[in-house]
Amino acid sequence: MTLVFLEHHDGELQKGGLGVLAKAASLGGEVAAVVVGHGVRAAAAAAGNYGASTVYVVDDPALEAPLPQPRVDALEAVVRASGAENVLFAASVLSADVAAGLAARLDAGLNWDVTDLALDGGTLVAKRPALGDTVLVDVGWTSTPRIALVRSGAFEAVETGGTATVQEVAAELRDYSTAARMVEQAHEQSSGPSIEDADVIVAGGRGLGAPEGFRLAEELAEALGGAVAATRAVVDAGWYPYSTQVGQTGKSVSPRLYIALGISGAIQHKVGMQSSGTIVAINKDPNAPIFDFADFGIVGKVEDVAPRLAELVRRR
Ligand code: FAD
Repeated sequence: MTLVFLEHHDGELQKGGLGVLAKAASLGGEVAAVVVGHGVRAAAAAAGNYGASTVYVVDDPALEAPLPQPRVDALEAVVRASGAENVLFAASVLSADVAAGLAARLDAGLNWDVTDLALDGGTLVAKRPALGDTVLVDVGWTSTPRIALVRSGAFEAVETGGTATVQEVAAELRDYSTAARMVEQAHEQSSGPSIEDADVIVAGGRGLGAPEGFRLAEELAEALGGAVAATRAVVDAGWYPYSTQVGQTGKSVSPRLYIALGISGAIQHKVGMQSSGTIVAINKDPNAPIFDFADFGIVGKVEDVAPRLAELVRRR
């Protein structure tokens, strides 16, 4: 049985986990989801529409704050109760912590940065980039449960129209009052999708010239219904928030379309976005490394090209 961990926010299941669930369901076999938190029963049921036949719920006030340690306890209880052989997570800061904690707790193997999943003779195998993202390798596990952290955006959340049985699991949560505690939680205000969830990302680099240059990226993203991302160079310069950084020390994303505005294409940026469906690069330097791996390239100044592109999109 395959178990997929679903994160939720404001009573809504997050798209990343639902994509992993839909992928797991498409492989066949028994697929269940697990939702952990406080007051999450109603949200959990929606997982049936993405391929789960059962949704395990651990509902406890101690799970209200999005902290990893009690979630490891909850997941351990669900894995033991369900006998899950595979446990899948969509990458996020929280899920990465929970997956690693669960692997340590169960003495299980964890494959991370997974970009594809398949069954080989009924056994789960994964694909992940290796050697600085220059090759894709098949990876497996030598024991169960097989735990995988899937790269954000790797799979689309496809609705199946199904329903799931919600099953509560009583988990014994340890006392973490002397460990980490949530002091404050701030939600970033954003009118569009997050870069983890977006089908389209418009990313800006130093070629945008100044923080104000990001208006070009925002306008194009708005026209396409996408999200804005950034390189580390501009994040370090304080032009755009860290939460939007894509790359080795930022987030890994795989949108359907990635438009790079004034980005050179350094390897540390490339590793975070090269599994995007279609990559379009706009750069004034015809020798910029990004043109080596972009599907479409436009040699020109972003301030000339981006507004025209946004205008064309708006007109369609
Ligand atoms: P630049 O490399 O300065 O490129 C700017 C580009 O804009 C150039 O190609 C230029 O031709 C073009 N340009 C300039 N003006 C215009 C214009 N008017 N119109 C069109 N094009 C124009 N980087 C990341 O992005 N993410 C990471 O996670 C990351 N992690 C790192 C980790 C380590 C350990 C290290 C050492 C580095 C890391 N970096 C990361 C930094 C990375 O090496 C690059 O420095 C960075 O990606 C460059 O950002 P950039 O493309 O915005 O800037």
